[in-house]
Amino acid sequence: SKRAGRNRVTLFKNEMATQAAELLKLERDIMKAMFRDEFYFVLQPLVDSETHQLVSAEALMRWRKDGEIISPGEFIPFLEESALIVDVGERILNAICEYIADLIDRGLMFEGFKIAVNISAKQLARHDFIECVSKVLKKHRVEGQHLEFEITESVALDNKEDTIVKIDMLKKMGISFSLDDFGTGYSSLSHLKDLDVNKLKIDRSFVNDIMHDPQDEKLVRSIIQLARNLDLTTVAEGVETQSQVEWLMLQGEVLLQGYYFSRPLVPEEFEAKYLKQMHV
Ligand code: C2E
Ligand code: CA
Ligand code: CA
Ligand code: CA
Repeated sequence: SKRAGRNRVTLFKNEMATQAAELLKLERDIMKAMFRDEFYFVLQPLVDSETHQLVSAEALMRWRKDGEIISPGEFIPFLEESALIVDVGERILNAICEYIADLIDRGLMFEGFKIAVNISAKQLARHDFIECVSKVLKKHRVEGQHLEFEITESVALDNKEDTIVKIDMLKKMGISFSLDDFGTGYSSLSHLKDLDVNKLKIDRSFVNDIMHDPQDEKLVRSIIQLARNLDLTTVAEGVETQSQVEWLMLQGEVLLQGYYFSRPLVPEEFEAKYLKQMHV
């Protein structure tokens, strides 16, 4: 009836108003969080499948909000919708470069060690992104070789021509690139050929099922083969079990990342577990 229809509309309007209010609150909370420095990063190791030695680490953002730790899944999508991801992303990048400089100062840096940072579409799309990265590196006197950028295919393809140019410029600064969540987006071989990345990260959802789903097993095997043929390093993310590790080790050299080795750790823990042992 007309009445029911009107009620539905009212309900819908109320819902939208509630949503809008919630979004506004989230936005205010995020501004406050930036002001109070509530964002920080944790580090998850990537290890060599053959030696199980540390190769690099991925920086993952966390938000300490009123004593509670909030995962990026709950706020990154919102940050990405708003322009705030650019500011927060720049801060994380700055914090990572500061940390790299600190590791060097304390003699904990080793040859070839990199920290990977996730870069979102809005950040990469900024006309001054290269300038911003170069400034941050200079500010902390850090070389690009210690940095890696993780971008997803959708980020890369947002504006493919622009991405190709930027990857090229950033690689000239020594920064390497990883194509994240590989296999989940509109993966196409032609994109892979055009995007001059160093690594492919096979999405967790495929790695998850290699022991149970023959299709996923075949898929992961083919991705590793494909990457090898293209001279790219493969990373298997979300490795959780011994049997996954054993299966992946049979595939030759790949990098492994996942809870089986370590959850993301705060820097002090990461250093104690990984870096200090390499320097004894
Ligand atoms: P991602 O880049 O795919 O990061 C890997 C996610 O898998 C992380 O979740 C990590 O904690 C989780 N993970 C690692 N090993 C395992 C495992 O063995 N099992 C399971 N179940 N999960 C595992 P996290 O930290 O919650 O981050 C989620 C996503 O948020 C990231 O996915 C990334 O897309 C985004 N993100 C995190 N930090 C940043 C950041 O600084 N900037 C941007 N733009 N995005 C970020
Ligand atoms: Ca990532
Ligand atoms: Ca990923
Ligand atoms: Ca993912």
